[in-house]
Amino acid sequence: MIEAGEATAGRSHFSCQLCGQHHHGDMITMREMMFGTREEFDYFLCDNCCTLQIAQVPDNLAAYYAADAYYSFGEGTGEARWKSALKRICARGMIGRPEKYPMGNGPIDRIRRGAEPWIAQVEGLWRDAAVLDVGCGKGARLEALARLGFTDLSGVDPFLPATQEGTSVQGIHFFRGELTEIDGHYDLITMHHSLEHVAEPRRLLVAARERLKPGGRIFVRIPLLQDWVWRKYGANWAQIDAPRHFYLMPQAAFIDLAKSAGLDCISSGTDTLGWSLARSEAYARDIPMYNSPGQPNALPFTMSELAEYDRQAQTLNAAGEGDQGYFVLSAA
Ligand SMILES: [Zn+2]
Repeated sequence: MIEAGEATAGRSHFSCQLCGQHHHGDMITMREMMFGTREEFDYFLCDNCCTLQIAQVPDNLAAYYAADAYYSFGEGTGEARWKSALKRICARGMIGRPEKYPMGNGPIDRIRRGAEPWIAQVEGLWRDAAVLDVGCGKGARLEALARLGFTDLSGVDPFLPATQEGTSVQGIHFFRGELTEIDGHYDLITMHHSLEHVAEPRRLLVAARERLKPGGRIFVRIPLLQDWVWRKYGANWAQIDAPRHFYLMPQAAFIDLAKSAGLDCISSGTDTLGWSLARSEAYARDIPMYNSPGQPNALPFTMSELAEYDRQAQTLNAAGEGDQGYFVLSAA
């Protein structure tokens, strides 16, 4: 059972926004550490569904998404062309085949899966499936799918640069706004680390279910609040990312939430990477992700220490206990 962390900011009454449970308990102070402002935000931990959640969503939310620095809106990796081409060729044969290609994060896995390791996990996925990415940022993930041969790609993001609206040169349809404003229906709707950024995740899941074609799937990736991560890092856990992440759920809480939105969980797993553990250690040492916009701080670890974090991540994923995970959902 997850228990509240040590850093507390006084007792308050609150209601869990996911399960509705009323509490009288301790608030936990979280600090903004991506940009290193160290501004403080109150969170609380529901003792019924064990979801860590922000007490009050900030009014001026856009101020916490500096478009030039925020990772969803970042530029490409600058990888050598031959390497990208090799990854794409290997990755194409893996699309939609979870049995043959279980999620792994070793160096070989990363090369085999190309930039999009999750594509094997949606069983039966095919390249002319109609795919919508919710919270697509500048669309780097959709561009990677286009390079893998996907032909029917769309993305929606409320913070999409206005200049990017419309159809891109790769044929990707970009919408600036919310999922609820979209009329289309899709074979696959993806939410890669976007659900934790919305105030009403159940409403978003319902909106996605309503936009599925018959037999369609929703693929969600979110941070996962695990017992061990809360005990080890508490308020320094990098995936809290205050105040941008509103809800940090354990697997069971997410599956219940999906159920309440009329969705069944078909399969799930964890896909933690070493950076999440290393970044949490860095936050514990008071080192933010960025010094200033566009200037990421190097992690204070040697190459062999970073490799050790990668090994820890692989071990956690093999046990299904990573601090981020994925879920394949279908309409109930
Ligand atoms: Zn709750």
